[in-house]
Amino acid sequence: MIDPFGRHITYIRVSVTDRCDLRCVYCMAEDMTFLPKAEILSLEELERMCGAFIGLGVKKIRLTGGEPLVRRNVMQLIENLGRRLGDGLEELTLTTNGTQLARHAAALAAAGVRRINVSLDTLDGEKFTAITRLGRIETVLEGLEAAKAAGLAVKINTVALKGVNEDEIEDLLQWCGSQGFDLCLIETMPMGEIGADRVDQYLPLSLVRARLKRRFTLAETNYRTGGPARYYSVAETGRRLGFITPMTHNFCEGCNRVRLTCTGTLYMCLGQDDAADLRRPLREGTDDAGLIAAIREAISRKPKGHDFVIDRRQDRPAVARHMSVTGG
Ligand code: SAM
Ligand code: SF4
Repeated sequence: MIDPFGRHITYIRVSVTDRCDLRCVYCMAEDMTFLPKAEILSLEELERMCGAFIGLGVKKIRLTGGEPLVRRNVMQLIENLGRRLGDGLEELTLTTNGTQLARHAAALAAAGVRRINVSLDTLDGEKFTAITRLGRIETVLEGLEAAKAAGLAVKINTVALKGVNEDEIEDLLQWCGSQGFDLCLIETMPMGEIGADRVDQYLPLSLVRARLKRRFTLAETNYRTGGPARYYSVAETGRRLGFITPMTHNFCEGCNRVRLTCTGTLYMCLGQDDAADLRRPLREGTDDAGLIAAIREAISRKPKGHDFVIDRRQDRPAVARHMSVTGG
């Protein structure tokens, strides 16, 4: 699949549920309304959808959400997709908040998952509960231990939040080094109403990087994981540090991704509203031809890039849907 700007689409992120056991302040409002079950693709439908994308040249699938591991029987989907590894699919991975990892880490590894992203914004238990509104940090730390024991490579995703965890980023980098984890910092993006002002949360990573350089030796690398992060090696920890900077640096020119929601809507860009309904052809079609035609048509509409801005004069988020809908 090649889009109008010559970019090869080889990576799909699939949100398997919009639900989550946490309510992170930058991601969701406190009183979120979740989708009715009837609108959500079944696990079989999700698998068929992924199969169509693999047939069209997708080599990497990342499952996300909401929290992917709270979807009932999700391991069944992961095991079935794992069987496609080596048969068109090269990598199966997921982004998780880690709360269910202690239960699932071994099965994930057995299914062929090699690397996972775990979101963790702080090492301070009280702050963790404040950021996630519902979580306990111990659950995530236990999950991370299980992931290590299962041999999964872990990358920690941390959203940089002004005045919340900005004083902790050096410690997080050091801690990740001691645990054998890479760290990836993310700028907060204006997605969905969250009942707070984004300007108050937004911390430009250019500033964070400059501060980190005072204490750590960061060297640019060519390492890429197929995602938008730019990586540095950290001499003091021997691990990598990534920066995802949609706000200060546009990462769209190399975009190889599309995103499927749990209702079967395909977003060709995280930061635009244009989308394609793939559930209808999936449910109407008897063979894959209609589905494949709908996917190809959607790819032909992939936009050049997003238009995120965070500005006090902007009274609405850049896109109305929350990150938990499209999946991070
Ligand atoms: N629940 C899983 C988790 O937290 O890892 C997967 C879904 S979550 C939406 C995926 C990633 O998006 C997380 O790393 C989260 O921190 C990030 N995220 C959520 N809302 C965001 C926002 N508005 N700006 C930037 N990153 C965001
Ligand atoms: Fe849930 Fe992940 Fe969003 Fe936090 S960032 S509320 S864990 S979906």
